Amino acid sequence: MSDALNRQMIAEVLLNTLVCQLGADYVLTEESDMLPYVQEQRRLYPGHALAVVMPTCTAEVAFIVEQCREHGVSLVPQGGNTGLVGGGVPQQSIVVALGRMNRIRDIDPTNATITVEAGCILQVVQDAAQDVGRLFPLSLAAEGSCQIGGNLATNAGGINVLRYGNARDLVLGLEVVLADGSVMNSLTALRKDNTGYDLKHLFIGSEGTLGIITAAVLKLFPLPRGKATALVGCDTPHQVLALYEQLRDRLSDTLTAFEFLPRFAMDAVLSHIHGARDPFNVGYASYALIELTTPDADLDLNARLEAALADAFENDVVRDAVIANSSTQSKALWRLRESVAEAQIAEGASIKHDISVPVSGIADFIEAASATCLSILPTSRICAFGHVGDGNLHFNISQPVDMNASAFMDLTPQFNRAIHDLVADMNGSISAEHGIGLAKRTELRRYKDPIALAMMERIKALLDPQGLFNPGKLL
Ligand code: ZN
Repeated sequence: MSDALNRQMIAEVLLNTLVCQLGADYVLTEESDMLPYVQEQRRLYPGHALAVVMPTCTAEVAFIVEQCREHGVSLVPQGGNTGLVGGGVPQQSIVVALGRMNRIRDIDPTNATITVEAGCILQVVQDAAQDVGRLFPLSLAAEGSCQIGGNLATNAGGINVLRYGNARDLVLGLEVVLADGSVMNSLTALRKDNTGYDLKHLFIGSEGTLGIITAAVLKLFPLPRGKATALVGCDTPHQVLALYEQLRDRLSDTLTAFEFLPRFAMDAVLSHIHGARDPFNVGYASYALIELTTPDADLDLNARLEAALADAFENDVVRDAVIANSSTQSKALWRLRESVAEAQIAEGASIKHDISVPVSGIADFIEAASATCLSILPTSRICAFGHVGDGNLHFNISQPVDMNASAFMDLTPQFNRAIHDLVADMNGSISAEHGIGLAKRTELRRYKDPIALAMMERIKALLDPQGLFNPGKLL
């Protein structure tokens, strides 16, 4: 019997077993049914799945893993399929779609924790916390469709990292199905637990290569009762950085978000996003979007922000600022920032980087990386925006107006090398929040410390000796 025929027979036996356990409705094999799980949103990485299976509880996930192991078939755990680096794209694997595991198992306002299953939509978790007067602070563009299991498997970042940390910082406990089909129950809701290795952190950010996260205990915080939002115009990234430092010193933990937009991003948003309006009469080279929040209803954040910005104006760090007077105005300011990715699509092809450097080096990075890009292609249009308060930029380059898109995209390796070399020189990271997936595997090999990389490979071999979990990703 040929290998291909043998593999096909094994797959058929496996799928029959899974249909018996899960029911035919939850084992998809038609191409059209599988499409939303096989294709990622940017269509950069073609996928192919043997089947998409949809378990409804941890025991079913364990059963699926056990059966896949027995038959030597690999699997790809998948949440909302909103990732940007191809980490959830199957290549001849079975997709384990966790969307039906969407129960909130427990919520404890006093302990300030919520216990959720992996398939809970992020926004559902935020809303459940709000219903008991608490905040779950993880917030990102895909929050209406991404799932918490995927957020944890990729250690998602987003707009509140400055105050609350990455997804990793928001987890107290995890339940994980391991490659042998056993279930690691570390669903503890403890703030203090010094009983050896903190194993949950191996799985957070592992991109589904070490186990399948099925549930998590997440930290909640006091619900903000006051908020202030401002858009600030500056001349240079160095002014923006100086402003960040002044505000951080003065406003401490009330500073929840500090985002950066360059002129190009603002122009793109104003020309392509319906209803977007420039709150200033003149344009500035650099902008900072600032948000303060506090659980203290008596604290006048608008007044504090106004005073801090007035001083920054005196110090020549700020050229102009608008403070939102209402939640509608605040939303309108945030929309300018949140629409950058969409507006950039309307400007044509773009070469993207998701980098971080120490916050103190971020302005130098913007200047040096911009100069490097212009030396590669003098007509480059640089769209470096994002979470400057975290030292994280989406350093994107839009195609020149008079250049053909594919000729521009052909320069990707040159831009990647220049940008990532600069990142490495500054002790930064080539992937700050999107992960490695398929997109950055070769770059990871080039830039990660070889000893750390070897240790990652040993951990993978230990926890997944058959290489069943999300093969071909990350490592
Ligand atoms: Zn981001």
